[in-house]
Amino acid sequence: MEHTIVSDTRILVDLDRIAGNMRAVRDMAGPGVAVAAVVKADAYGHGAVAVAPTLMENGAAMLAVANLKEALALKEAYPQYPVFIMGLTPDRLLPLVVEHGIIQTVDSLHQAQVLSRLAQVQGRAAVIHIKYDTGFHRLGFPAGPESLEEIRKACSLPGIDAQGFFSHLALKDDASNEAQFSAFMEAADALEQMGCRFRFRHIADSISGVDDPQYRLDMIRTGALLYGLKGFHRGKLDIRQALTFRTRISHISQVRKGEGVSYDYVWTAPADTRVGTLPFGYADGYPRSLGCGKGMVVIRGKRVPIVGVLCMDQCMVDLTQVPEAQVGDEVIIYGDGSDGTLDIQEVSQLAGTNKNEIVARLTARPPRIYIHGDREEASL
Ligand SMILES: *Cc1c(COP(=O)(O)O)cnc(C)c1O
Repeated sequence: MEHTIVSDTRILVDLDRIAGNMRAVRDMAGPGVAVAAVVKADAYGHGAVAVAPTLMENGAAMLAVANLKEALALKEAYPQYPVFIMGLTPDRLLPLVVEHGIIQTVDSLHQAQVLSRLAQVQGRAAVIHIKYDTGFHRLGFPAGPESLEEIRKACSLPGIDAQGFFSHLALKDDASNEAQFSAFMEAADALEQMGCRFRFRHIADSISGVDDPQYRLDMIRTGALLYGLKGFHRGKLDIRQALTFRTRISHISQVRKGEGVSYDYVWTAPADTRVGTLPFGYADGYPRSLGCGKGMVVIRGKRVPIVGVLCMDQCMVDLTQVPEAQVGDEVIIYGDGSDGTLDIQEVSQLAGTNKNEIVARLTARPPRIYIHGDREEASL
């Protein structure tokens, strides 16, 4: 019973591909450039706790997440892995950060002071990365000389280990990236003159990490690449999509010409039609906007359209192209592009969004099945 996968709708994650992608990124970065493996949003839907060892064993220097909840989940499973929160943590939760030895982003002298006091009380260092705003205007000390003085103070507080100094690119175009990078380096150099030395200065994400080698500095922060999602334009990197999303046909209806299907009968059969019901919907993370003929799935090697309104837990497909289809047939919702399947890139274009959103929005409902060598292991 313990090995029973209790749902036909499931997400397969190929850990060997994630390992290969991690090694490709590690090799690209070269010696002297660390790789922070970004595993926020449950590793972009792949399962952070499940993929973390694969990333760390294949060259990641640390795991990067968005918030404290994500960091605590990883620290509970792997107290020994360095975990870096790229977002801010409210003052009242900073004791947990220090207690669990989590690396925290700081963008105010005030929070550095709070962490310094906690570090002294708890008798352990508070490890921080200072964020500097070079134009994105999301987080960071505002650019300018007053901030440099505050950063200098923050770095010299007792109990504070200022391990990193970083910023984030808006990726508007080369000129704007270059302006942000120059502002960053100017600040980093000025801080060095003022006595602040950082082990990791970092500004590049997946896209700039591949396209702009000159921005790699001491570390790159890559998410998308690890999962085989290619957003870069100039560079080259041999990576493979790690995730597929599958289900099986649960029911087949004979719908007569002129009869409707799903809410509001938005779709009516143009002729007598075999309609398949599939047990996945928007509560699994599939975009509701891909109902009504926009989205397609692959059954027996053929693309078939989703017809009518996509429901929370189910949707219907027109089986005209696959007259031999039967209940129980395998359905590829997101494939890797082989055998006519729609990969994450194609789905994201159909849905009018980016690849990261398509995977990050996958919910916890479909079980994840991890493929490693010829073993498959389900997470329930
Ligand atoms: C999410 C995130 C990244 C990783 O982005 P990818 O494009 O997936 O590589 C890097 N840095 C920060 C600050 C982030 O929030």
